[in-house]
Amino acid sequence: MLKIFKYSVLITISIYVLGTLSLKNHFIQDKLLDIAINSLATPASSLPDEDALTAIVCGSRAPIGDPNRAEACILVQAGEKIFIFDTGDGSVQNLANWNIPFDRVKGVFYTHLHSDHIADIGEIHMDTWIAGARKSKLKVYGPEGVQLLTDGTELAYTNDYIFRNEHHGDQLAPLDVVGFDTHTVDLDNPILIDDDDIKITAYSVSHDPVDPALGYRIDYKGRSISISGDTTYDQNLVKNSKNVDVLFHESMSLEILDKINKVAKRANDFIADTVTVDILDYHTPIMDVVKAAKEANVKHLVFYHHLPAPRNQVMEDIMYRGVDKVMDEWTSSHDGTRIILPVDSSGILVDRIE
Ligand SMILES: [Zn+2]
Ligand SMILES: [Zn+2]
Repeated sequence: MLKIFKYSVLITISIYVLGTLSLKNHFIQDKLLDIAINSLATPASSLPDEDALTAIVCGSRAPIGDPNRAEACILVQAGEKIFIFDTGDGSVQNLANWNIPFDRVKGVFYTHLHSDHIADIGEIHMDTWIAGARKSKLKVYGPEGVQLLTDGTELAYTNDYIFRNEHHGDQLAPLDVVGFDTHTVDLDNPILIDDDDIKITAYSVSHDPVDPALGYRIDYKGRSISISGDTTYDQNLVKNSKNVDVLFHESMSLEILDKINKVAKRANDFIADTVTVDILDYHTPIMDVVKAAKEANVKHLVFYHHLPAPRNQVMEDIMYRGVDKVMDEWTSSHDGTRIILPVDSSGILVDRIE
């Protein structure tokens, strides 16, 4: 028995040493690099091929930091077309890491103009322009003020556009499609897209003093999604999210923010003390999110834009205590949480892209 044990240890050590040494061998290094680069040339997309309404959380946090999460962003694919709802910091890098085909992005929709929802506008412009070979200016929809955002971004990136065009030429970096095609949402005409079985409707939510602030509802071949943006509990959100398959709703833990506030007070941290109080009146406490979801009769509730973002499973369990008692189907999202709603089906498939 002892002999077998000794042999196993010897074999394991030998494999480890040989493996480590072979990774230092130039021939093997070059082969591994070739394999990696070849796989980059034919990347596998994280989106399903089947006809479905699909959503991927490309950013699950609010401004309170977390090294493993980007700020607010939800990608929606309806059939072949892709729409992006908010582009918070780090979210476009997530999309690139997941090999999202930028050539199929048909529009970016902003819920409101807080920095944690718009920070990556320059990146989404860049990735759809050159990597995505965009054939026209990037369509952007948003509340009043969105024109200022896109005009300002174009101004800030003026030299970038010129330098890239001079270096890469008109075929790769054409200046005629650089910039934005901006649509300021008029809530008297809230249907923004209505073709190819895809309907995208804007609705107002309450994020005072951020006014207007928008939520969006997406319908595709009998499947539906609603996205809250930032809001307090809102009757208009309930009305516009009626019977959707999935509601993506922001969420705030009063208990955890209260704990952070007490620590901030003890540490005389004026900024954390003030912010953890200021934000209470324009976000939705978790059980009010559940209440809205129940009233709207949504089938599956997805929490995102967590305030604060849970750092581990224990914190997540504490934050969402009590939800199970009221809501049958729900998910506390992470970056990469994916929901697939196949057409001609009532199925709701939930998984996660790593
Ligand atoms: Zn926010
Ligand atoms: Zn906000």
